[in-house]
Amino acid sequence: MPTPLIPCDLLLRASRIVTQDARRRVFEDACLAVRDGRVLDVGPWEATASRHAATEVRDLGAALVLPGLINVHAHASMTLFRGLADDLPLMDWLSRHIWPLEAKLSPELVRLGAQAACAEMLATGVTCFADGYFHERQVLAATREAGIRVVLGEGFFGFPSPMFPTARHCWDVVEGLREATRDDPFARIMLMPHATYTTTSESLRESMALAESLDCPWHIHCAESPAETSSCLEMFGLRPVPYLDSLGCLRPRTILAHCVDLNEEEIALVAARGAKVAHCPSSNMKLANGAAPVQRFLDAGIVVGLGTDGAASNNSLNLFTEMRHAALLQKLLLLDPGALPAQAVLDMATRQGSACLGWPGIGNLEPGSRADLLVLDLSSPNLQPLHNPVSQAVYAAHGGEVRLVLVDGRVVYQDGRPLGIDLPLLRRELAGAVRWMREHRA
Ligand SMILES: [Zn+2]
Repeated sequence: MPTPLIPCDLLLRASRIVTQDARRRVFEDACLAVRDGRVLDVGPWEATASRHAATEVRDLGAALVLPGLINVHAHASMTLFRGLADDLPLMDWLSRHIWPLEAKLSPELVRLGAQAACAEMLATGVTCFADGYFHERQVLAATREAGIRVVLGEGFFGFPSPMFPTARHCWDVVEGLREATRDDPFARIMLMPHATYTTTSESLRESMALAESLDCPWHIHCAESPAETSSCLEMFGLRPVPYLDSLGCLRPRTILAHCVDLNEEEIALVAARGAKVAHCPSSNMKLANGAAPVQRFLDAGIVVGLGTDGAASNNSLNLFTEMRHAALLQKLLLLDPGALPAQAVLDMATRQGSACLGWPGIGNLEPGSRADLLVLDLSSPNLQPLHNPVSQAVYAAHGGEVRLVLVDGRVVYQDGRPLGIDLPLLRRELAGAVRWMREHRA
């Protein structure tokens, strides 16, 4: 008697599928079966397809399928400031150009910037990002329309900010975000103190206690530059990592963004506490903050994800660029071509991103995981010929070859069009936002 066929919603056929599973299997002339938003099966086309009865079959032809990329550190709405003030030192850039405008930003502008960011990220294969900003409700609205996953971090300072007279006012907003996302499989929350030098020790302790009670990540800019280390030393008598540890803020739920200025003892401390690192090489290079010793982090067993930071300091939200920069910067830093090889970089942008955010079931394509994926057009001249798909994704692709993106098995981007975003309207509204910023600068 023939074995009954297993029903599924979608069968994808592609010339290569990079699973990013524990064995890092790559299948040639491959098949991926999707049911109820999850990967049901993956393997060689003949054997896998013959087991399933699909509602829809898509033959992608010369295509490379990868898990959707995970951007572990972004400020989506800062897309509004892309190209507004470049080539400046971090503190000058923040205090003279960014913070004065942010103080005047309306919730509607925050939503517009987040929409622009979602459009850009989907176009380059990002299916999940961690966001730190103000008015995160607006970011949530934008991500829901776009169909992209998000971890929302309502940012706070230790001093009065445009949003909160004190950090404690932020806790209510965080609780509200938790309620708004409670049954949402696409959105989660985190605590997002800005940095050691812009918060009080009380607010850091309290926010960590809240992160514990809500069981969510706690994400902070940490050791972003030698100047930050000096400020922290001056204010608290300790460098950023030992300072955070003295407050009990280095934990497995902690995500430290940047970590450019870490010494050997601090690397060991971060590893011992199980804290995670969000590496943002383009932003670090552009602001001339330095190069995070990422290979040392990985050698010490630290989970490292990859982030773009905001489009004001990058100036892009493209994780393909970030993967390439991460690899090249590390090789240059250590003068070692073997540092941070392609597979390690792809891991950072996928399965390590999932571990960094504490969001299981994304960042790989194996039975049971969420069907979040991107499809690269292998007929692009820069992706020919094909020897090694992982090398191609990290070193040769620029993201412009992405032609299809699925989140939870649903098409959210196809052939230049994000399905949940009206691009012509978005462009008109962004032009209006530029006029508004010209009027409100200074
Ligand atoms: Zn940042």
